[in-house]
Amino acid sequence: MGGIESLQPHVAVLPSPGLGHLIPLLEFAKRLVLNHGVHVSFLVITTNEASAAKNNLLRSLPHGLDVVDLPPVDVSAVTSDDMPVVTRLHAIVEESLSKSLKSVLTELCNPNALVIDLFCTQAFEICSQLSIPTYSFVTTSVHFFAFITYLPTLDREVQGEFVDLPEPIKIPGCPPVRPEDLLDQVRNRKIDEYKFFLLHVSRLPLAAGIFLNSWENLEFVPLKAIREHSFYLQIPTPPIYPIGPLIKEDEPLSASDEECLAWLDKQPPDSVLFAVPGSGGTLTAEQVTEMAWGLEQSKQRFIWVVRMPSDASASATFFNVGSDVNDPKAYLPEGFLQRTRAQGAGMVVPSWAPQVHILRHPSTGGFLSHCGWNSTLESICHGVPMIAWPLYAEQRMNAAMLTAEETGVAVKPEIEPGKKVIGREEIERVVRLVMEGEEGKVMRRRVQELKESASRELGDGGSSSDSLASFIKKCKH
Ligand code: UDP
Repeated sequence: MGGIESLQPHVAVLPSPGLGHLIPLLEFAKRLVLNHGVHVSFLVITTNEASAAKNNLLRSLPHGLDVVDLPPVDVSAVTSDDMPVVTRLHAIVEESLSKSLKSVLTELCNPNALVIDLFCTQAFEICSQLSIPTYSFVTTSVHFFAFITYLPTLDREVQGEFVDLPEPIKIPGCPPVRPEDLLDQVRNRKIDEYKFFLLHVSRLPLAAGIFLNSWENLEFVPLKAIREHSFYLQIPTPPIYPIGPLIKEDEPLSASDEECLAWLDKQPPDSVLFAVPGSGGTLTAEQVTEMAWGLEQSKQRFIWVVRMPSDASASATFFNVGSDVNDPKAYLPEGFLQRTRAQGAGMVVPSWAPQVHILRHPSTGGFLSHCGWNSTLESICHGVPMIAWPLYAEQRMNAAMLTAEETGVAVKPEIEPGKKVIGREEIERVVRLVMEGEEGKVMRRRVQELKESASRELGDGGSSSDSLASFIKKCKH
């Protein structure tokens, strides 16, 4: 830290585990360093569980962005593979922060601010003892933020399960959420996962401010609601900073990433569908088979990121992606790999692909996405229309927004009544629709408009860039 000027603000950033949380906070940290000359200590919760994809992302960072590994904790006694994601996240974060956050922040000479992920709220108490203002970064939509701000009220007012409500849930000032689109974490109020989720979101009012990774044109209605609706005005809501869309710009490439991009270079413009289930997503064995046949029958070019099927969980690689066991030959339909390779029609990539490089490539024309918020933003920022295939967490809410008429940048495949999986014919239909249909062209135009609005807000004088600058100003004083 020797060369750092004393007047330069020093901000610590603390993501919770899981790449969908780490990636946007890392991007945020990079912007602070590169655009505002802030010194950032990026605190990484470290456990006995490995994720090769995470380690790769934390290589080659700009000068002024220091990765500080929190002392590793062995979580094998407090976690298990069958735990719901947020229960497991909570256990890991609790174990790590209770042991080391206070001493690490003290060793860093108390940064000017700490920016935390939604599930690291144990930090509020620790930082209040050290008088460090603590900001929260919401890694998903403003609509989601409005929902979680309303959740403590909903929890008091509704008896029984939210999923059993006969009507959509009316979030004040926002589009209602159908019970079937509710996020996993609130679908069963009797289990620990719901209790931990509610605990973390109930602590949001303790934040000195809240960063939202979105912008007006994409989420005009929920942003207006948060600012103006009487419900949010009469509860303690910290100042909000809409600073999005912040997306991953770059990442170190492996030899197989280079191979994938070289294949893409040889394809015609807008001709390739990119299909990936996020960082943590997995499909059932039956769904993998239907997906393979659907892609093949569509006769469109594709890059498909595949993972070992899991019938038990839709987010089986959430904590270990890139280090997961994965041999596509073992689970893809007989002959699929040989046929698609021989025809030059598709590329199958095990576990992880360089998503932002693929989305911004001119040959990519469609994105079959699980609708994680980062993937959603990356697709919009690169002008790529989507097939919405939500799997877990709040992704069904995101899919509903992307397919709604006002947004109109995605199509969602239907599941036949009585069936457990989306069938190959339906997959073929939506792939063709996005890649070569009239509706695909309309979605492409719409996503292009959103892309342009995003770059306006991020540019000089744009609302997202002003919002971030106002935070920096606060830190300096
Ligand atoms: N990602 C990637 N390659 C992959 C899968 C995912 O680069 O093969 C990145 C993707 O670009 C995004 C993040 O992982 O930045 C996934 O975040 P998102 O919020 O979309 O979903 P989550 O993984 O949290 O469900």
